Amino acid sequence: MKKALICGISGQDGAYLAKMLIEKGYQVFGTARDAQMSNFPNLATVGVKDKVTYSSMALSDFRSVIQTLVKVQPDEIYNLAGQSSVGLSFDQPVETLESISVGVLNLLEALRFTGIKARLYNAGSSECFGNTDGVPATETTLFQPRSPYAVAKSAAFWEVANYREAYNLYACTGILFNHESPLRPERFVTRKIVSAAARIAGGSNEKLLLGNISIARDWGWAPEYVDAMWRILQQETPEDYLVATGETHTLEEFVAEAFNCVGLDWHDHVVADPSLLRPSEIMISRANPEKTLQKLGWKAHYKMKDVVRMMSDRN
Ligand code: NDP
Repeated sequence: MKKALICGISGQDGAYLAKMLIEKGYQVFGTARDAQMSNFPNLATVGVKDKVTYSSMALSDFRSVIQTLVKVQPDEIYNLAGQSSVGLSFDQPVETLESISVGVLNLLEALRFTGIKARLYNAGSSECFGNTDGVPATETTLFQPRSPYAVAKSAAFWEVANYREAYNLYACTGILFNHESPLRPERFVTRKIVSAAARIAGGSNEKLLLGNISIARDWGWAPEYVDAMWRILQQETPEDYLVATGETHTLEEFVAEAFNCVGLDWHDHVVADPSLLRPSEIMISRANPEKTLQKLGWKAHYKMKDVVRMMSDRN
């Protein structure tokens, strides 16, 4: 039985990944910063809360990383942990950098130090590309990060690439574009929109306050993105991959679809709030996921409209 260690298992992707790996016959271990204090509601929602062995690990604490790796002796490690909100990273830049860049470095150093032959998947982000002027990004597109979060993810990407080259580690980054699900917390705009639309359809007379709705993103369905993570670690040689639907839509289109799903016109319920604008923003995020299709045989089946509908259905 293969052993998988998921760091940051309590989040959206952790839950779907744990479920998929358990169904594949893996023994799954998961870490949280304080496993005793967490009820792991996302894992309960997907029905695998009692099938995971949990331990406390802080990625920024090298000792706790080593201890966990030595105890679990994993075959595969999926690093999903770290401060994951772009907006929050402007308020907590140091926490963001430490949890993401130092966190990955600790994992890489722990693998090198212990000699444990685990394969490492690291959660990268499309935010690293910044503005590409509408040109679809590939695995070789220059990083031009526009937030503390993206700076931290860019550093983590190069740490992984450097340790792979310098120490021959099996370590890869999946550069994932936005992926959503009902497990997304309300801090994220997609969930905020879908939840508000449902409340308004249910009789609430609130207004939905949004920042810049002309930004454009590539939105996919989280439960199928975890399959791409797994495939990345099943290849003969470790490489980085970009994971996306290949379709870009504006936030305005997302809003329109969310209100359309509940039979409303968004124009009647949305108000622009300049206080929600970020200090610097990516206008258009666009992806070319051709390598992932060719080498991993992975393709996104659900696009923006499907994602909105499925989030609305399960709201
Ligand atoms: P979540 O925020 O849902 O989960 C991340 C987990 O990391 C949390 O459950 C939390 O676990 C842990 N965490 C949160 N803050 C910190 C911190 N400051 N220090 C250490 N650990 C922390 O993220 P997702 O599941 O959505 O995403 C997984 C990974 O993929 C993240 O690294 C994210 O940045 C990245 N990513 C996500 C995308 C998306 O669209 N969802 C797109 C691209 C990349 P606990 O509190 O239990 O310790």
